[in-house]
Amino acid sequence: MQNLTVLSGGMGGARFLQGLLHGIERGLLPGVAPDATVTVVANTADDLWIHGLKVCPDLDTVMYTLGDGIDLERGWGRRDETWSVKEELAAYGVEPTWFGLGDRDIATHLVRTQMLDAGYRLSEVTEALCARWRPGVRLLPMTDDRVETHVAVADPATPSGRRVVHFQEYWVRLRAAVPAEAVVFVGLDDAAPAPGVIDAITDADLVVLPPSNPVVSVGTILGVPRVREALAATRAPVVGLSPIVGGTHVRGMAEQMLNAIDVEVSAAGVGLHYGSRSSGGVLDGWLVDEVDVDQVDRVVAAGLPCRAVPLMMTDVDATAAMAAAAVELVTR
Ligand code: GDP
Ligand code: CA
Repeated sequence: MQNLTVLSGGMGGARFLQGLLHGIERGLLPGVAPDATVTVVANTADDLWIHGLKVCPDLDTVMYTLGDGIDLERGWGRRDETWSVKEELAAYGVEPTWFGLGDRDIATHLVRTQMLDAGYRLSEVTEALCARWRPGVRLLPMTDDRVETHVAVADPATPSGRRVVHFQEYWVRLRAAVPAEAVVFVGLDDAAPAPGVIDAITDADLVVLPPSNPVVSVGTILGVPRVREALAATRAPVVGLSPIVGGTHVRGMAEQMLNAIDVEVSAAGVGLHYGSRSSGGVLDGWLVDEVDVDQVDRVVAAGLPCRAVPLMMTDVDATAAMAAAAVELVTR
């Protein structure tokens, strides 16, 4: 196999990609060439405009992580970051103050915003930014169009009893600590896949759904018009790894998002939500963690090949082993 395509969110996807690249380099993935190309289709529905800057959290997390610029402790943003601009904005009393805009990070957003203003598409801007970071993958935004995930939360102070906030406000300011009553993907139905996205799926030898958030990361990519059709039609096997282990997310807020769309919060629940390609879904295989081994039969019974293996991304070797198990499941 020469061409691998991964549909990725931010932190979960980026960590998986680190292990995948490690596995490819070391020849640990059965049937995958050591010089195989990885194309990443990244979620852009988390993107936001803040203080006049276009910020793309998932694209940047993948780019910084694979380009060795990420702050490892935080898992997002730049290493050796300082926060002078953020402090100065706060001193002016300018809202919002909850979003983490670091000084180094702001340079990325300035370059991006300037290029967008000059008429470049987000996919072109991403390519330009990657010329510096050399992430070792071809990084594509899922779309060049503006798409935003919004979350409805209870608010008794409003006439409807609800308030809708941008996904970043739900995650960063509200810390996903209040239930999400609904998730809305503004602009998704009218978005066009970015150049290269459909071909990356169609021409792949293997497509992977990493352990990313199934609703607000992978779910939004699957919601871009023509992406599901491309997955249904590709000759490549499509394999996924569960982001739910032992009935909840490992980190993040997949549980809140699954509740909001009424999907069972379990490894089997997410696998069956994606569904098997043989019955109109997107997957040819699904990996669950060892602790969820009792759910394997249920997934298999629904026509989706499934195995239980360790799915904790503790280091690149453990993650490469997960990737190897995923390859093996759909190519045996
Ligand atoms: P985000 O955009 O930064 O939220 O990142 P992603 O959408 O790519 O990934 C978030 C998901 O990764 C969460 O739902 C977690 O459950 C999942 N996740 C994080 N670490 C691990 C891990 O070690 N193992 C597994 N199986 N899932 C993980
Ligand atoms: Ca994200």
